[in-house]
Amino acid sequence: MFRKVLVANRGEIALRVIRACHELGIRTVAVYSEADRESLHVRFSDEEVCIGPPPARESYLNIPRIIAAAEITGAEAIHPGYGFLAENAEFAEICERSSIVFVGPTPDQIRVMGDKAQGRRTMRDLGVPVIPGTDVVRDADEGLQRAREIGFPVIIKAAAGGGGKGMRVVPDEESFPRLFPTAQGEAQAAFGDPSLYVEKYLVRPRHVEIQVFGDQHGRVMHLGERDCSIQRRHQKLLEETPSPAVTRELRAAMGETAVRGAAGIRYLGAGTIEFLLAADGSFYFMEMNMRIQVEHPVTEVATGFDLVKEQIRVAAGEPLSFPRTPMQPRGHVIECRVNAEDPDRGFAPAPGTVTTFHPPGGPGVRVDTHLYAGYRVPPHYDSLLAKLIVAGSTRDEAVIRTRHALEAFVIEGVPTTIGFLQRIVRDERFVRGEVDTGFAERFVSEGAGMQRAAAS
Ligand code: ADP
Repeated sequence: MFRKVLVANRGEIALRVIRACHELGIRTVAVYSEADRESLHVRFSDEEVCIGPPPARESYLNIPRIIAAAEITGAEAIHPGYGFLAENAEFAEICERSSIVFVGPTPDQIRVMGDKAQGRRTMRDLGVPVIPGTDVVRDADEGLQRAREIGFPVIIKAAAGGGGKGMRVVPDEESFPRLFPTAQGEAQAAFGDPSLYVEKYLVRPRHVEIQVFGDQHGRVMHLGERDCSIQRRHQKLLEETPSPAVTRELRAAMGETAVRGAAGIRYLGAGTIEFLLAADGSFYFMEMNMRIQVEHPVTEVATGFDLVKEQIRVAAGEPLSFPRTPMQPRGHVIECRVNAEDPDRGFAPAPGTVTTFHPPGGPGVRVDTHLYAGYRVPPHYDSLLAKLIVAGSTRDEAVIRTRHALEAFVIEGVPTTIGFLQRIVRDERFVRGEVDTGFAERFVSEGAGMQRAAAS
């Protein structure tokens, strides 16, 4: 096992990784930008290195500085968390060349699956169902021609995509010539790569993803699903397991399919195969995430396994410790993402200083957060403040507990999405489990998501 691990991230996930390391008896090195000097991940690590000014590209994305920090402190491995360098093949390769273990998949795996068009092709060739669509198209003309063949509505996606950027739903032929260049511009700006492909747009699907894990000894397995259908602008807001739409048989089928895909590329470490699930029970590969997910605690609570510790053990060459019998979730688990955003102002990010912080507690309640009273939310990074993870023996119990936990969650000083989440978990459609990926967006446009509407 490693003696020292560098955590190349910030916020709640940096804390999460530091805890896992300490439980394994590993010393930790935190890296931080000048904006994060007062952050808890800096306080709770054994050593810390400032890697530059606040903008991510000068600090958390600054590969030479992070490698130098690892070399100076003698860290044997780097855990990238999620976001930043977690799915950067070049970074994984530089780690390898510097004889530092990258806690994650191999550079080749990141390269193949990180390109969404190539990832689609790879999965299709392994017998994993993919959404009808194209490879990268040359230009708008070819795109339109292929979209006609697929049939509208279609969705344009960036090959280098992530976080919903460079993505446009195209309802009809007439809108295509207008939306193609905007997606292209956004993809170029976000990823430095304007390549786009076109997919059939499924109507009211659910987002159901399978957690997979592979070790260096050739074993690949899955730990069940997470339903992430509650999303806005393609950003997940609430995740749960089991999915209200997944039966035991469907779980087995989706799990087997995900394992076939992951095993086909000899996948190493923690990964997630994202599927869209149609109303008729058919499911299609959308993309693979090659890192720990924001929503991983849902699976941890439902299975009783620590996924971050497992990532580190697998990176150190140990075999997977999970049992070989098919995984069935215990009870029901819901995660809510609390963001520093103002629902009354179009969910605009709202940095500022947290004046009061009181997280909920009680049976079945877990809060993963880096907040404390007096913490300044910097404007430079994503707006995630906390994850509330609530377990119940049934879905009803989990929903009721989530409601009460959200009522008891006090964050003052910055606007948050807590009130919005409270309204979601009170909505009857959510309570019945009858939601799809467009639900939250419709909820907002109905006005149900707004503070003012709720108050009047
Ligand atoms: P990103 O990597 O940018 O997050 P994804 O490919 O994972 O993009 O898609 C994000 C979300 O967009 C999905 O969870 C789903 O809600 C929606 N989506 C993507 N592709 C389709 C499609 N073909 N049909 C319907 N919805 C889609």
